[in-house]
Amino acid sequence: MTQEWDAGRLDSDLEGVAFDTLAVRAGQHRTPEGEHSDPLFFTSSYVFRTAADAAARFAGDVPGNVYSRYTNPTVRAFEERIAALESAEQAVATSTGMAAILSTVMALCSAGDHVLVSQSVFGSTISLFEKYFKRFGVQVDYVPLANLSAWDQAIKANTRLLFVESPSNPLAELVDIAALAEIAHAKGAMLVVDNCFSTPALQQPLKLGADIVVHSATKFIDGQGRCMGGVVAGRSEQMKEVVGFLRTAGPSLSPFNAWIFLKGLETLNLRMRAHCANAQALAEWLEQQDGIEKVYYAGLDSHPQHELAKRQMRGFGAVVSFEVKGGKEGAWRFIDATRLISITANLGDSKTTITHPGTTSHGRLSPQEREAAGIRDSLIRVAVGLEDVADLQADLARGLAAL
Ligand SMILES: *Cc1c(COP(=O)(O)O)cnc(C)c1O
Repeated sequence: MTQEWDAGRLDSDLEGVAFDTLAVRAGQHRTPEGEHSDPLFFTSSYVFRTAADAAARFAGDVPGNVYSRYTNPTVRAFEERIAALESAEQAVATSTGMAAILSTVMALCSAGDHVLVSQSVFGSTISLFEKYFKRFGVQVDYVPLANLSAWDQAIKANTRLLFVESPSNPLAELVDIAALAEIAHAKGAMLVVDNCFSTPALQQPLKLGADIVVHSATKFIDGQGRCMGGVVAGRSEQMKEVVGFLRTAGPSLSPFNAWIFLKGLETLNLRMRAHCANAQALAEWLEQQDGIEKVYYAGLDSHPQHELAKRQMRGFGAVVSFEVKGGKEGAWRFIDATRLISITANLGDSKTTITHPGTTSHGRLSPQEREAAGIRDSLIRVAVGLEDVADLQADLARGLAAL
């Protein structure tokens, strides 16, 4: 039987509350059933009381759901929670992280527009720009992430978007997001940040001046390697275009995945703090070891942009990369000697993963392109999970012993 609720108790009062509280409570609209967890609306369509009601909802004259490609209450709860965490006016969820990037560019760019992309972005992002957007007349150039004057010089009259990932993968380079946003805005362009590696728990690009944030929710937002999804967040003006594309083209998020992500967000900050603490401890330990030539982690004093990282991030993330002695053979021996850590290129999971970028994520690049990108044969990337750090260190010590 439906409980009688005082209408004031259906939603939480979130006026002025902190990040952790928003991560647990934002976006939930409790139904009259009084459920304490988030309700899962597994329905593709919605019924109307009358023909006139249907007409009004289709016309958008009254709010309400019509079809789950457009809106679904569980998906909307996830969108509202992400918007709260990213300090965005609006967020919209997508079926994958790539669908978030696709929808952003499709919504905001036309044939003849120019886009600048940082050199070190996710492999499928480069393929999307190179193989597909270029076919539809979008011009694309690549800029070294950290070099602000190179960005400034590369902007043309028709530059519409600057697209960056900071910190970069796998070498943990950063760009000063606030400075880059100013450069973009001075020339009438927008700054898009793929915030997947940091999540809003560690970095809030919109607060730093970026216009749009995209995520693969598949990574840390889920956090336990269960399902695919993405999200775009920004100001209403731009989001209106993104929402329009998404509702028409249809890479919408499944309500089930949205429900999983809502659960993931409840522990996001706790998990990110634990990921960062493990990563920091391992990075510091690796830096002391004989077999290690160089460690790339923004939390280290030795990182050339450590001060910038402290300024624009609340933690330095889970990805630690390092070069070992012995080139590719050394790196492969190191990886093969681990017994606990999973050999896979995925990240953002409670399980720690290890990979050799030179022959996996960056394997299709020519040796010259790899050299230019700083991806040495001796480079290993570890995406640090939530296991006990002593066990992770012992596993990496097996790798060191095999060098
Ligand atoms: C994984 C990833 C993506 C793509 O996300 P999917 O959910 O796999 O489509 C985009 N950007 C970054 C930085 C990623 O790590």
